[in-house]
Amino acid sequence: MITVRGSAPVADVIASLTRDVADFPLPGIQFKDLTPLFANRAAMSAVIDALADVASGADLVAGIESRGSLVAAAIAARLGTGVLSIRKSGKLPPPVLSEDYDMEYGSDTLEIPADSLELRGRSVVLVDDVLATGGTIGAASRLLRRAGATVTAAAVVVELTALGGREAIAPLPVHSLCQF
Ligand code: AMP
Repeated sequence: MITVRGSAPVADVIASLTRDVADFPLPGIQFKDLTPLFANRAAMSAVIDALADVASGADLVAGIESRGSLVAAAIAARLGTGVLSIRKSGKLPPPVLSEDYDMEYGSDTLEIPADSLELRGRSVVLVDDVLATGGTIGAASRLLRRAGATVTAAAVVVELTALGGREAIAPLPVHSLCQF
């Protein structure tokens, strides 16, 4: 069992509790499995503290299904703000707004409710577990902007810098806690 010391920099804590899985879900993909990180009480608390600092002041924290939503809900609870889960296609009842996108290992569609949320003029921080090519956060950001929200920043636990996600979603500011 790995013990997380309270004084360890959060990037070191994340790196020590991230499991690299080769060739998952496709050959050639190095999957960053954050399950051990999320299951560790001290590490999860440190991650949520750091991301809550980034999201502080936002009207709403929006997380991308499914791991991003898990993190976003914890941040929203810490800040006392609302949370929105941006869903994969087919999970929400109609009417929905949809955006198709390409990501590191495939293509998918993200959706939010079309008219049951009052997003116009609200500031939103987008949350996900991993930033790879930026396709996912880019699509989520387009969806929220179509609904009238102002997306102020993206906050992620892990950034895979070689995949250029930060550049792909510029000028949206990106805050990542740990870079590989
Ligand atoms: P991308 O759109 O390419 O930035 O991919 C980011 C999304 O896909 C996030 O929701 C991640 O959960 C997932 N993802 C992409 N690549 C990886 C990876 N190497 N390890 C873990 N998750 C990944």
